[in-house]
Amino acid sequence: MTDCQHCHKPTKQADNPLCQHCREDYWQLIHQLGHTQLPTLRSIMLRQAHIGTPEHTPNRGNAPLPIDTRAQDLIEESEAWLAEQAGKIRAAYAGYDWRKAWFAIISNKHTILTMNTAADDYAALEHITRRNEQALTPEDELIILGTCPNCHSMLTGTPEAESATCPDCHSEWAAPAIKAARDERLWQVQITGTPSDAAKELKRYGLTISRNLISQWLKRGKLHATPTEHKRQYMFNLGELAALLDCHR
Ligand SMILES: [Zn+2]
Ligand SMILES: [Zn+2]
Repeated sequence: MTDCQHCHKPTKQADNPLCQHCREDYWQLIHQLGHTQLPTLRSIMLRQAHIGTPEHTPNRGNAPLPIDTRAQDLIEESEAWLAEQAGKIRAAYAGYDWRKAWFAIISNKHTILTMNTAADDYAALEHITRRNEQALTPEDELIILGTCPNCHSMLTGTPEAESATCPDCHSEWAAPAIKAARDERLWQVQITGTPSDAAKELKRYGLTISRNLISQWLKRGKLHATPTEHKRQYMFNLGELAALLDCHR
């Protein structure tokens, strides 16, 4: 028995760096990268390049839109990963374009999944696909996870995200710790508005609460929002709301 180099659980196949389970997950990421992520990122970039071409708007003096450099970065990183892996199968494959490189990888499944660098390659790919995934998630599905402890940029992600990568300094953080720090700081955030406004604000943080529940808490004196001179408008403390919601669940 040896340990899987990725999940560190014992595995029976001593000649294999990855356990059966990790090999399947790894393979799925490889498939996803070439099948959906890269084509989608490339079409986003092409569309933007097209919009940005000045010849197409001869009547207007508008400056072209900048191409999303973030998409370009993600594409370059993804393609570099594919080229590197393809090159490990056969040196000549490293010069392939991304699609051919991906096909070479897909048709050499056993080689890719069992090569001695598989654990590192898998970890690198996880990082790449997670960033791609985030870039391809529509903004209204993203929530504010918190703030990067390193550079204080805002970290966003899907509500289920287990980790967050900073868009600015590229450091990676565990989502639960980032969210806990965020909830601490919510005590310093006040908003003035109706219960519905407060509910909407909390939704940005992935905290789902109905305005009716907030109204009920106000009526029962559970929530200590300060009334304002305007009808139904209060000053809410988001930290208090989040804490009450936590007890309520
Ligand atoms: Zn494993
Ligand atoms: Zn950062």
